[in-house]
Amino acid sequence: MNYNKKTVYDVDVKGKKVLLRCDFNVPQNKETGEITSDKRIVAAIPTIKYLLEQGAAVIACSHLGKPKGEWKTKLSLAPVAKRLSELLGQEVIFASDIIGEDAQAKAAALKPGQLLLLENLRFDIREEKNGADFAKALADMAEIFVSDAFGTVHRAHASTAGVAAYLPAYSGLLVDKELSIMGKALDDPKRPFVAVLGGAKVSDKINVINNLLEKADTIIIGGGMAYTFKKAQGFGIGTSLLEADRLDYAKDMIAKAEAKGVKFLLPVDNLCAAEFSADAEPVLVEGDIPEDLMGMDIGPKTAELFAEAVKGAGTIVWNGPMGVFEFDKFAGGTKAMAKALAESGAVTIVGGGDSASAVEKLGFADKITHISTGGGASLEFLEGKELPGVACLLDK
Ligand code: AMP
Repeated sequence: MNYNKKTVYDVDVKGKKVLLRCDFNVPQNKETGEITSDKRIVAAIPTIKYLLEQGAAVIACSHLGKPKGEWKTKLSLAPVAKRLSELLGQEVIFASDIIGEDAQAKAAALKPGQLLLLENLRFDIREEKNGADFAKALADMAEIFVSDAFGTVHRAHASTAGVAAYLPAYSGLLVDKELSIMGKALDDPKRPFVAVLGGAKVSDKINVINNLLEKADTIIIGGGMAYTFKKAQGFGIGTSLLEADRLDYAKDMIAKAEAKGVKFLLPVDNLCAAEFSADAEPVLVEGDIPEDLMGMDIGPKTAELFAEAVKGAGTIVWNGPMGVFEFDKFAGGTKAMAKALAESGAVTIVGGGDSASAVEKLGFADKITHISTGGGASLEFLEGKELPGVACLLDK
């Protein structure tokens, strides 16, 4: 897949209408609708500012939540328009529809330096279905398309890929950063290249493991998914997470890694518990896990082994926590991994989702080269899959 895409710096937007796909999918208080974190709005500011300063008239759009084609007032982007306006220090014109009369009239009247925000794209079912008429109506309001919502580039939706059939398509600064850092890490990594994988399930990460086995020098596996591999090696895993239908796959991967000379590291000790609970008493187990215990986190020896393995790495990608980090007693392994990455001196990339929130929660975010803003998207990136929202952008 080609990650070398034209960006907003490669096009003259002066006097042009630009359709800008943003990620304003912000968390909200379920009762009051209040935005509980404006991080995603803040993250969108550099591209918006750049376009406005260059004299573009910007038509921003985004989805929010999962309205599934229904008009749900609670998921209106109106509060986002208000917050965006406060952050930018300028008016944000808000359209009460997406491609309807109000949006069309406001887009037509939009002047250079002005910003319009359309209503929630997913109020129309054609957005997620990539309806050609919907994509064309969005595109007809503008002359240039800029994609800056990395979290949705793995989706072939009207506003992420469909519109590129009608408009020249460029990446915004956020998407460009994701592509240049993660793309480079996968295409031409500074070596040794170490991949750290964790989280609950092997089945969610099969394609990631397959792809990384071709590229990485070392693969480290922790979290719940490690126990299927341990079982495949013949160890007792008690009541730990097991995907019995993936045992053969796990065996194959261990053999393949050995044949390729890829170091494949699994936990050697575990913090276990009798039940899956935040109050469970941690029991440290080396080797076989007794029948009545489940592995909840990697143990201290494993944390040391993994930290040692990332020392001196050139590039490290990490996706998935090392244990049930939501429970304080079982967050130690994930914390140790975050610290090891922070101190490694390598180019460090943390995939979105749980590992990103773990790094943030544990206070190591500012010591990581790049924390991806897209959970699903960054996973598909690591799988080496073609991302429709990236493939549709103009090549450099
Ligand atoms: P994922 O979305 O696949 O990255 O998985 C993240 C989830 O895996 C988190 O909610 C963790 O609590 C969970 N997890 C990590 N280690 C374990 C484990 N040993 N047993 C059960 N769940 C785990």
